[in-house]
Amino acid sequence: MSSRPQGLLYRHNAARQFDNDKPMLIMEREHAKRALRLIRAGKKLDLTAKIDVRDSGAYESYNVVGEIKGSMQPEEFIVVGAHLDSWGLGTGANDNGCNAVMMIDIARQMQKLGVKPRRTIRFVLWNGEEQGMIGSWGYTQTHAGEMNRHVVAATVDIGSGRINGFFTNGREELTQPVAAALKPVEGLGPFTQINAPIVGTDNYDFMIQGIGNLVANQEAYNYGPNYHAESDTFDKVDLRQLRLNAAITAALTTGFANMDVTWQRQNRAQVQHLIDNTDLRAQIDMFNLYPDWENGRRGRTAD
Ligand SMILES: [Zn+2]
Repeated sequence: MSSRPQGLLYRHNAARQFDNDKPMLIMEREHAKRALRLIRAGKKLDLTAKIDVRDSGAYESYNVVGEIKGSMQPEEFIVVGAHLDSWGLGTGANDNGCNAVMMIDIARQMQKLGVKPRRTIRFVLWNGEEQGMIGSWGYTQTHAGEMNRHVVAATVDIGSGRINGFFTNGREELTQPVAAALKPVEGLGPFTQINAPIVGTDNYDFMIQGIGNLVANQEAYNYGPNYHAESDTFDKVDLRQLRLNAAITAALTTGFANMDVTWQRQNRAQVQHLIDNTDLRAQIDMFNLYPDWENGRRGRTAD
């Protein structure tokens, strides 16, 4: 049954294995509980389900990439992005429409203000995030030749609650640069960086490519109750905070585009070390992503 009350559907279902191929249904909570009460009272219930699903096979979709060319080191890249796709139950307003819009807004405003960053800033609206971060994986493949020149990749994907810092994903050496980049907006803080690797959004492929990567850590606001649910709609977005988050994200982005870089891309052994010495392995297993790392299909290869 849906874990959400008031007739709302929530998509997390009962599959216990990734290779499950049986159709699954979710019943909205109130009716499911009523059915349960009736069954417990000894009534016999029939279930009729009409499933309106078409499977038309594989299809192609795209990331949206826009860039502001660097004025001094245009061949070096800062990536900042949010994902464009969402689960179909709601409109995906907090996950992740609001932050996709924020990326467009930041890009427009930088353009309008004539901001000239040292390095190239790439704004990316990722696709296929909800299917397993496929768009960001695709980006690391398409731009394989540029990976050594990616300085940092930042993702915003936890709704419209206040950004209270960034996950530095096991890259302790990024903690200080993040703080330095956020200095111009310190009035919107305080900001605390958490140096723990997190899996579940578009930083993942950058992390296993050994590239410095950040994820905005955000206050819960109403993200959780509406996460992947029918109720993730526009009225749940905190528009005022979203504007403040835009300022924070813009400061982070320009800060990294202009600062001196002291960190380097990690090699495969260093990424493996991170996987083996944090809870990263457990998280990767949760998403069933380890086989592709192990066989070199995904992530930095030994070179
Ligand atoms: Zn998301």
